[in-house]
Amino acid sequence: MDARNDPVEERALEQRRGETVTAAPVEAPPRNGGSEAPARERRKRPRISETPPAPPPPPRLDDYEPIIGKPQLDELRYLAHPLRSKTVKMVNSTSMGGGVAEMLNRLIPLLSELEVVTRWDVITGGNDFFEVTKAFHNALHGGEYVLTKEARDIFLSYNEQNRQRMQFTEDLFVIHDPQPAGLIRSRERNRGKWMWRCHIDLSNPHPDVWGFLRPLIEEYDATVFSSPAFSRQLMVPQYLFYPCIDPLSEKNKELDAGYIQKVCDDFGIDRSRPIVTQISRFDRLKDPVGVIQAYKLAKKYVDCQLVLAGGGATDDPEGAIVLQEVMDAAGEDPDVIILNLPPWSALEINALQRASTIVVQKSLKEGFGLTVTEALWKGKPTIAGAVGGIPTQVIHKLTGVLVHSVEGCAYQIRYLLTHPEFAEQMGKNGREHVKENFLMTSNVKRWLLLFQILLGTVTKEKTT
Ligand code: UDP
Repeated sequence: MDARNDPVEERALEQRRGETVTAAPVEAPPRNGGSEAPARERRKRPRISETPPAPPPPPRLDDYEPIIGKPQLDELRYLAHPLRSKTVKMVNSTSMGGGVAEMLNRLIPLLSELEVVTRWDVITGGNDFFEVTKAFHNALHGGEYVLTKEARDIFLSYNEQNRQRMQFTEDLFVIHDPQPAGLIRSRERNRGKWMWRCHIDLSNPHPDVWGFLRPLIEEYDATVFSSPAFSRQLMVPQYLFYPCIDPLSEKNKELDAGYIQKVCDDFGIDRSRPIVTQISRFDRLKDPVGVIQAYKLAKKYVDCQLVLAGGGATDDPEGAIVLQEVMDAAGEDPDVIILNLPPWSALEINALQRASTIVVQKSLKEGFGLTVTEALWKGKPTIAGAVGGIPTQVIHKLTGVLVHSVEGCAYQIRYLLTHPEFAEQMGKNGREHVKENFLMTSNVKRWLLLFQILLGTVTKEKTT
């Protein structure tokens, strides 16, 4: 449990943390009549809404013109042209929450605007189904698991129920992640093309779970992975789609200076001094304690503040422990600002990233590292661990700097703070790199090309 759910523990943490600003946007429900939080804490609470805000309106293609330019948009329209009479169905397991739903919410309106009519269906299931698929998810990431016949039956029978319930009349089907993978059994009713889009890291899957899923996956016409390192040897073609960010989303859109200042004021961040920031769930693999150690080493030579902003400490018991470790490591330093944010803090995160002098992502293990993409897009000099998908984004000393240790990170903080011109140039390069490769519009282009390949509207050779 997050200490914030317990007002007594919460105050104890607050006292131990001295000047730490622990953002607590969701008020703890009063227990036993409820004791009021101390005035100082309330005053320091930023005004983040207590419930998730309504999603922003879907993007329009023309909204991207100021960002990527008209020729790039014309290219999308050109690629979509042969697909205009075609229909696509995308299926995943949730319409809200999680990166896949967030991405589909933006991707589908754009494809539809390009007249590639795209429908989005979500599979349904009972708790038993989602318990099994959660266990599969962990096992596919390498966790221990005993695959039982019961689990296999639950997985297949819910996939079968959904198969019976859903219509499969489109030309193309894109099935996201393992949960609905069994829908492929509908291909006997439909002559369209089927793609499996895997968003997770399959580099070290549990052999029994993968052995169970693999025959299903090999019935698809194509698979799409987020990184070469995440894929498996398969009998079907594999395509590489990097994850992407939407430059118009709350997390990434331009913000006015007044709003950025207000967020910093609310959080007690002094914008007249350098700000080094890491935005991450409170997870040991993100190495927040290592970031504090690096900051402390660098601070012997250069003045700066450290902002560690993240979530995950409310619903994840381990997150609360890591948050406590972070507070202990920060000690009484008033220049370390620790923020425990709710999941709907996209605008605040955007403002924190934009206010930063340097962004750090000192991960010890990483998937793709979207926080790095977000920082590069905002033109921030970025220091990041050389793990997972980070080196694809951070080309050392060109689009950012890669580090392998606390000392390396400290050195780079000091170097970048004392070489602002170099830092600025790297930030500019980083933004260009994201613009070329990791924006939503690049993702739309990849889907259009893949649809064309599968439907035979172009030859493979033309697109490689
Ligand atoms: N993020 C967030 N709130 C937080 C911490 C992170 O919204 O408290 C966002 C962050 O901006 C990014 C995503 O969550 O968009 C994290 O993606 P990433 O690939 O960096 O790491 P993951 O958490 O998936 O390991």
